[in-house]
Amino acid sequence: MYLICANKCQHNAPVAFDSQQLAAGVSILEVNMRKNIVFLVLFISMNALADVGVPEMKNENGYVEPFRMFDNVYYIGDKWVSSYAVETSSGLVIIDTLDFPFSKWIPANLEKLGLDDKKVTHILVTHGHSDHVGGAEFLQSMYGSKVIMSEKALELAKEQALKSKGNAVFLPPVVESYAEDSSNLVVGDTEFKFYITPGHTEGDLSIDFFVEDKGKQYRAFVVGGHGANFQKTGLAKQFIASMARIKKIATRSPAVTVNLANHPHKNNLFSNREINATDKANNPFISQENFFQFIEQQNESATEGTKEELKSSDSTNPNKSMRVTADASAD
Ligand SMILES: [Zn+2]
Repeated sequence: MYLICANKCQHNAPVAFDSQQLAAGVSILEVNMRKNIVFLVLFISMNALADVGVPEMKNENGYVEPFRMFDNVYYIGDKWVSSYAVETSSGLVIIDTLDFPFSKWIPANLEKLGLDDKKVTHILVTHGHSDHVGGAEFLQSMYGSKVIMSEKALELAKEQALKSKGNAVFLPPVVESYAEDSSNLVVGDTEFKFYITPGHTEGDLSIDFFVEDKGKQYRAFVVGGHGANFQKTGLAKQFIASMARIKKIATRSPAVTVNLANHPHKNNLFSNREINATDKANNPFISQENFFQFIEQQNESATEGTKEELKSSDSTNPNKSMRVTADASAD
C-alpha cells in the first residue's frame, strides 16, 4: 500500500492539547490514547484515500507492467507515454510523469519494482505537454522531489494545467531552478546533461546520460520532443535545426547507443521487452542504429511537412491551411 499525499497533507503534524485540558485533569495516558486514535484515524483515511482516483491498472486503460531495461533504468510508463526511473547512488530520478491521473500508477510501479524505499530526488520533464508533465506536481508533493524543466516548458505546463478537466485536472509543478542549455545535474554517481532542443514545443529538454548493462556503460539520449510542431510559426524550422544539433552531439565519442524515447512506439519498447525477456545476453535496447534512424526519420518528416506547409501557404492555393503533424498533436 502506498500513500497519496497530494497538496502537502499534515499527517505528521503533532496533535495539540492545551494547558487547560491538562489542568482539567486529562492524564498523560489519556492524551497519548487520544493521540493514537487521531493518528489511527488519519492513517486509515490516508490509506483509503490512496486508491481514490487511481485508474484501474489494466491493459484496456493503457497500463503496462513496469520492467527493468538496464541495471539502473526501469520503465514505469504506460502504453502511449514513457516514464523512466533512473537509479542513482543517491536515489531515484524520474524522467516524465504521464498524463494525470495515470501518473498515479507511477508510485505503484515503483513499489512493484521494489524501489519504493528509495528517495525520488528529482523529476525531469522533457516538455510542457500534459502527457509528460501531468503528474509532476502530484509526484513532487508525494516525494518532495525537485522538478527540473525548461522555463518555456513550465509556461506551457501552466497553460495545459488551466485547460485540464474532470479527473484529469492537474497543477503545474513548483520549479526552483530551470534547466538551461548545456547545463548538467549530478545526482550521486550519475550526471545528466541537458540541451534545449525546441521544435516540438518551445521548451523541449533533451537529456544525455549513461546507463549500465551488466556493469558496462552505454550512452543514452532522451530527445525532448518528438514530431515537429506546425501550429506555431518557426517551430518546425527550429525542430530541423535541433535534430541536426542532436545528431552532432550524439555522434561525439562515445556515440549514443540507447534511444530513451519519451513515447514507447519510438524505441520499439514492447517488442524489445519481449526480446529482453528471452535473450539475456544481448540487450535490444542498445542499438546505435535505432537512435540515429529515429533522428533521421524525425528530420525527414519535419522537412517534408515544411515543404507541404510552404505549398499550402502559397497565396494562389485556395486550400491554404496550417498543417499539424499527427506526431506534434499527439506527442
Ligand atoms: Zn508533446
